[in-house]
Amino acid sequence: MRFNPFAWAKLKFLCHAGDSEIGGFGITSRDDLLLVEDFVTVKQSTTAISVKFDDVAVAEFFEDQVDADRMPEQFARIWLHTHPGDCPNPSSTDEVTFARVFGNCDWAIMFILARGGQTYCRLRFNSGPGGSMNIPVAVDFYTSFAASDHTAWQKEHKRNVTIEPLVPRNRLLAQSDDWDLVEDPFANEVEALLEDDMFEFEVESWEDDQCRI
Ligand SMILES: [Zn+2]
Repeated sequence: MRFNPFAWAKLKFLCHAGDSEIGGFGITSRDDLLLVEDFVTVKQSTTAISVKFDDVAVAEFFEDQVDADRMPEQFARIWLHTHPGDCPNPSSTDEVTFARVFGNCDWAIMFILARGGQTYCRLRFNSGPGGSMNIPVAVDFYTSFAASDHTAWQKEHKRNVTIEPLVPRNRLLAQSDDWDLVEDPFANEVEALLEDDMFEFEVESWEDDQCRI
């Protein structure tokens, strides 16, 4: 799968725009369903370890894309989200979401970008005998692409992303089972973030045994 520089820059920008994960959909070229030309977010509730899309917002996003004359294959097959730290491997929740939401599509892709720059990309086929495979990722500088628009991206983040506080479990015992006590995953990331290069020319694949979280 390839990103054009615009989509890649926007994903990287939004990955670091707030102290939470962020998710959205890849919009692809009609002629090349594996060339991501834009990354679009919808209203979502996020924490440092989770993203939950608003169902109504997803439905509206799909309607807008159809109105823009795009086919579902161009906007509803590539699920992109970010992870804190430097581990891009899918969590068990990611796997459940991928199967539940995209299990009825003939094919779909789960792409994860970790804040450290590591990536994970899996193509899943649901038709025929089915199957899935990890596929390489690249930023394609030979495609045409729009200029970056940090102001608009920041506004999109503010409009769509609600960051929920992480609360220690023992304070919520009587109220909810859904919360976990989580150490601040960004505590050691500040230095790395400052050195982060917004525009990388290569996207390195990642080995399972390199994950630290
Ligand atoms: Zn995830």
